[in-house]
Amino acid sequence: MRGPRRGRNPMNIHEYQAKALLKEFGVPVSRGLAAFTPQDAEAAAAKLGGIAFVVKAQIHAGGRGKGKFKELPAEAKGGVRVVKTAADVKANAAEMLGNTLVTIQTGPDGKQVNRLYIEEGASIDKEFYLSMLVDRATARVAFVVSTEGGMDIEEVAHATPERIVTFSVDPATGVQPLHGRKVAQALGLSGDLAKQAVALTANLYRAFTDKDMSLLEINPLVLTRDDRLVCLDAKVGFDSNALFRHPEVVQLRDESEEDFKEIEASRYDLSYIALDGTIGCMVNGAGLAMATMDIIKLYGREPANFLDVGGGATKEKVTAAFKIITADPNVEGILVNIFGGIMRCDVIAEGVIAAVRQMGLNVPLVVRLAGTNVEEGKKIIRESGLNVIPADDLDDAAQKIVAAVKKEAA
Ligand code: ADP
Ligand code: MG
Repeated sequence: MRGPRRGRNPMNIHEYQAKALLKEFGVPVSRGLAAFTPQDAEAAAAKLGGIAFVVKAQIHAGGRGKGKFKELPAEAKGGVRVVKTAADVKANAAEMLGNTLVTIQTGPDGKQVNRLYIEEGASIDKEFYLSMLVDRATARVAFVVSTEGGMDIEEVAHATPERIVTFSVDPATGVQPLHGRKVAQALGLSGDLAKQAVALTANLYRAFTDKDMSLLEINPLVLTRDDRLVCLDAKVGFDSNALFRHPEVVQLRDESEEDFKEIEASRYDLSYIALDGTIGCMVNGAGLAMATMDIIKLYGREPANFLDVGGGATKEKVTAAFKIITADPNVEGILVNIFGGIMRCDVIAEGVIAAVRQMGLNVPLVVRLAGTNVEEGKKIIRESGLNVIPADDLDDAAQKIVAAVKKEAA
């Protein structure tokens, strides 16, 4: 049986995948084709035809248009390029593929571009913003709509909050024409365009709920010069807890975009969330994990992660969990805090030792074990000859790891 996957990050997909998926729900998107080589890109343009093409870098990050390639001169164009001919498409594809695009969302390291999307050029009259997310406060799907599209929505929220309209949909009634009319009103659309907005709202809602999305962002949603509403960009994240219902979505996963730690966590069904601190934590049970994070803070340090190995973890699972923690360069010390109920302390101990033997251990490690087979567990650790600091209870463990990290730094 697979346990709950609370607290896992959403699974993201590329723009071209998101658009193909939205199209299935009747959402208007531009025609386009994915490309992995300059030859692919040229062939895609030839197939699409027309007088303008857009070559779009496919990475799991926004801000591509204003992004910069690390390897190219500063004046080179960014990750979204409008060009006129299939030959231009090929030349631009050759310049982009394999290079590293840095945007406001990638961080300074940027992301390598391995895929492109070749899209027909749209003639844009206006750019709007529309997103959907699960609003935890109301436990409903919320829409966020603004006339200020194509820019960073956080900036809009800061500078001109009155230009952002939000509302949520009651799951009991589902999406209604009134929701679509709210969107139309927020965007200043009437007549046939308002009708398009109503259909778009309903179709987006259906896509969102049918596919268990946790985030859908269309920025920009454009009004074309020939009066059509078209989704020109699409960012989609799926609720990891619901992926078991969507093998077709899991297939879209691009592991080259994901963090090693997150791939491993998903492979071993661990609840893992990276945080900003320096103390790596391996804990079983969400409640104990929260308590462990709190007590680390109490003693003046911050947790580097939330990691719950769950109730019935195997040695392999514990080993994977430990590797994930040690792979984080910010980790200055590790605290293993396990209460063995169903989980046996000797299994934990064996997993930890196996991981340390494989990965080495460059930071202090405090282990606190309690519950089933605790004596066997402690004995395994003692006899391993590894430099592990044993602790008796949670308080003791937290103090010891904070002290050990301080000592290391001194
Ligand atoms: P990002 O948000 O990562 O920069 P977008 O897909 O939003 O990428 O593209 C950035 C901008 O490029 C858009 O705001 C739009 O002005 C323009 N653009 C994107 N796709 C097209 C297209 N198919 N036709 C014309 N312009 C486009
Ligand atoms: Mg965009």
